[in-house]
Amino acid sequence: MPTPSLTKQALDLDDFLQPSTYSSLPANFFTYLQPTPLPQPYIVAVSTPVAQQFNLDPASLLTPRYVNAFTGNIDILGANPLASVYSGHQFGSWAGQLGDGRAILLGDAIDKHQQRFEVQLKGAGPTPYSRSGDGRAVLRSSIRELLCSEAMQALGIPTSRALAITGSDQGVMRETVETSAVVTRLAPSFIRFGSFEHWYYNNRPDELKILADFVIRHHYPESLGQPNPYQALLSTVTKKTAELIACWQSVGFMHGVMNTDNMSILGLTLDYGPFGFMEKYDERHICNHTDQQGRYSYRMQPTIGHWNTHALGQALLPLIGSVEETQQALDCYSSSFTNKWEALLRKKLGLLTIQNDDKELTDQLFNIMQEDHADFTHTFRYLSYLDNHTSSKDDDFVSLFSNAQAASNWLELYRARLVSEGSQAEERQGRMQASNPKYVLRNYLAQIAIEKAQNKDFSEVQKLLTILEHPFDEQPEHHLYAGEPPTWAQHLEISCSS
Ligand code: AMP
Ligand code: MG
Repeated sequence: MPTPSLTKQALDLDDFLQPSTYSSLPANFFTYLQPTPLPQPYIVAVSTPVAQQFNLDPASLLTPRYVNAFTGNIDILGANPLASVYSGHQFGSWAGQLGDGRAILLGDAIDKHQQRFEVQLKGAGPTPYSRSGDGRAVLRSSIRELLCSEAMQALGIPTSRALAITGSDQGVMRETVETSAVVTRLAPSFIRFGSFEHWYYNNRPDELKILADFVIRHHYPESLGQPNPYQALLSTVTKKTAELIACWQSVGFMHGVMNTDNMSILGLTLDYGPFGFMEKYDERHICNHTDQQGRYSYRMQPTIGHWNTHALGQALLPLIGSVEETQQALDCYSSSFTNKWEALLRKKLGLLTIQNDDKELTDQLFNIMQEDHADFTHTFRYLSYLDNHTSSKDDDFVSLFSNAQAASNWLELYRARLVSEGSQAEERQGRMQASNPKYVLRNYLAQIAIEKAQNKDFSEVQKLLTILEHPFDEQPEHHLYAGEPPTWAQHLEISCSS
């Protein structure tokens, strides 16, 4: 007799959702509404790891019932769809009320580790917070969001997740007419810094307290044991934010729109827009074509993260009680960022010990990268192949720099540093390759996948997704996907339009 299978049966759609915890907040925190259907939806992409995490059968997502459900065309049992209100600072200025203008929170789903996630449909139609927007998202930006959130997850960087994209030929007007899409995205909470600023700037201390208590109860219960739970909340969020940005810097990720309405209260990467991964290194690089001042350039991200935590601190001040206590909670930003950044850099360079001249060594590396605009991902990946003695692998690294002498000189210092801690080549290479990705979501890779998808060939999206799920693996059969951008793509400009 065959042994009975112990694998858990995949969930049916009817068992996927339950009313959101968020909906237990008072009525002025959100508006109940239904998604607006899109004609003749089709599936564009499915993230198998996310489906599996939520016990959904990835194949079932291809069926019309699921496609309609994740487009917002039919109800999902257990859902109580709503759009939430928030405000925020955009590009340093108070922007007033924003809110979920095109994202609709369907309900909560529990993953196989019993963790609760909010499930949103992004691009599912207008809400009371859409302002002049149409409530839609285009296929192009939806593909970028799904690919990048899954790529970040695989890089070990805190992020919202994406389960699927559905598309429809219904046109939406951006710079040109594009087709619409809906991303099903998930996070333990989509509450933002701007959710707190909303009540603070509207002079609603009761709602501010309700929101803070809600976030503490559901996400930071350890704050309750602290003398000032709101100060503890701010301090933890400040630390998480600083560490998140150190993670971004360590892979050359630029968010592009670090407005306070895009800053997660859980320290997740949220609201993927005109993001980019650094290719030719330039610390001043601006990935968002619309950001002419470079407020959100690579080198500014740590400072802006700090600025954003101050904006959150300002909003929490009435709850914390005094400027001094608020300032105290914010003070951990710089050390949290530096500690995380230095630890990540040590890992990237394969260093197991801390030595006095380490900062000098890493500063010098970034100096030569800056001088010669060396490819960020290749620089670190090629270092992770180095032997203990000079070999042809040195040439691969040196070839990234036009000033070969400067690169060789740096290698000499680096090698001496490795020798000083008795570093073993093979063991170090393994560790370094697990910290320095070979594959990141270069804009041109996304662009190729998008253009094919716009012609109804979705295979490249799925292929790229699969490659990016294993960014540290060699995947020799896909080595072309690790390449620097071809000439046509060297100056791709990504705007805010989405
Ligand atoms: P973002 O910078 O994409 O995070 O968006 C900033 C604000 O604009 C948020 O409140 C969004 O919900 C809203 N928004 C962006 N695009 C649209 C759109 N097409 N329709 C409605 N609201 C939008
Ligand atoms: Mg946003």
